[in-house]
Amino acid sequence: MGEKKLVYVDNNATTRVDEEVVHAMQPYFTGLYGNPSSIHSFGGQIAKKIADARGQVAELLGAQDTEIVFTSGGTESDNFAIKGVLEYFPDKKHIVTTKVEHHAVLSLCDKLAKEGYQVTKLSVDRKGNLDLNELRNSLRDDTAIVSIMYANNETGVIFPVEKIGQIVKERGITFHVDGVQAVGKIPINLKDSPIDLLSLSSHKYHGPKGIGALYIKRGTRIKPMIVGGHHERGRRAGTENVPGIIGLAKACELAQKYMQDELTRIKGMRDRLEEKILARFKNALVNGDRENRTPNTTNISFEYVEGEAILLYLDERGIAASSGSACTSGSLEPSHVLRAMGVPFTAAHGSVRFSLSRFNTDEDVDYILSELPPIIERLLEISPFGREVL
Ligand code: PLP
Repeated sequence: MGEKKLVYVDNNATTRVDEEVVHAMQPYFTGLYGNPSSIHSFGGQIAKKIADARGQVAELLGAQDTEIVFTSGGTESDNFAIKGVLEYFPDKKHIVTTKVEHHAVLSLCDKLAKEGYQVTKLSVDRKGNLDLNELRNSLRDDTAIVSIMYANNETGVIFPVEKIGQIVKERGITFHVDGVQAVGKIPINLKDSPIDLLSLSSHKYHGPKGIGALYIKRGTRIKPMIVGGHHERGRRAGTENVPGIIGLAKACELAQKYMQDELTRIKGMRDRLEEKILARFKNALVNGDRENRTPNTTNISFEYVEGEAILLYLDERGIAASSGSACTSGSLEPSHVLRAMGVPFTAAHGSVRFSLSRFNTDEDVDYILSELPPIIERLLEISPFGREVL
């Protein structure tokens, strides 16, 4: 028996850390362990490296160095952006977001709603796109912040954040973008952009976990969320995660270096996988606007089949993907994203997300295409409605 093949196509959940990133981080655990706030040379040399790292992150975004604040990742950046702006504007009690945000934003908004804030969650259409008129009509004089994601983690659908930003800025409202699934995957240029705040997370593009950043456009009115020492120019207290920051910067450098070529290669693999599956199964459909997605993501529903069952069988064969339904208290609940898109239950339950990265190969796609069909066939055979579509 040969070694079991392993194919990781769950890169929207997290990614493999690039060897170059690991290599760049390593010295900062041992020889270069100084605290950047110390005035002696152990600290001083680290402070310089952090400044360089900040510059690297800024470069990927077309931002200025002073606009980058390091955080512990996407969740903290999202919380910081929203809470920080609300605290700055205590009289403004209205928040606008969408129904398809990540829980880092939605759970916070639900908590804030219980505390007395009013939250408008914009709807999406069947393809996962927003109605900009609904957005326009939702804005009020007491709207403190609009928080809308760049790219959806489940479907890859990209929102027109530049257009949205123009609408929001016409009303003088602060605009936050959860860029966690976009940064490092598609080109982003925040120079002259209407985006005030943008969250990013290193582990989504081959950097380490537990480190990210919040881009804060110069002049944006925001209070710190974590207070203590004078780190990050008073915007986020706490001794810096030095190896993490160095790793994040390296991941940004590599993303910039590989972006153009890899974008085309990854999209090619994703499209081939998707097209072959659609051609093979009458009950397969793609969730989300196919023309307007991150190049690495496909979310496919197999009608009349359980997504969780597909995942378990795939896992047995060494293939790691994820599903758009989660088993909560014994019943399979379709994801809030697919529900908001109006995907019928029979399809939403059978959804599988494949998210690729630059570490995937054509052989990986071939392997999925050889292993997946027998799984779907077997599950259709035991499904009450499945035989009709076989
Ligand atoms: N926002 C989006 C869109 C995400 O996909 C994720 C992670 O899955 C997060 C926020 C949270 O990021 P982190 O895992 O760095 O806290």
